Amino acid sequence: MLGSGIAWLGEGRLGPAQPGVAKHGFNMPKFRRLSKELNAEKRKQVWLRDEGRCQGPYCVISCALPLNRCHIDHIVPLSSFGTNHNSNLRTLCRRCHVLRLDFKHRGMIAAALRDGIIDCSWRSLTWT
Ligand SMILES: [Zn+2]
Repeated sequence: MLGSGIAWLGEGRLGPAQPGVAKHGFNMPKFRRLSKELNAEKRKQVWLRDEGRCQGPYCVISCALPLNRCHIDHIVPLSSFGTNHNSNLRTLCRRCHVLRLDFKHRGMIAAALRDGIIDCSWRSLTWT
């Protein structure tokens, strides 16, 4: 246990300090993301491991992305008890990240449509 009552559950993962009780009545553990400084280091580690290349299904042969333009994706989302361990992280381009079927990515879809990253047929291109 860390000083504030947060249990250390392994590399890159903290939680739960105490179970949270959602409005709908069941207990959900609360998880914290790594601090920005650690996230920057993690991003760089994952990007270097992936040689800066998108690991998504639409980029089998792709050019390397600059670190500041790549997306680092949780393979198993934190909300599904995934971790911030490097083995659960991968480099994606914006298009592959937006098209990944995850309700948390919904917020990125409108901006990607506006920016021309995806078109109106995006629903047929989603992947898990
Ligand atoms: Zn991609």
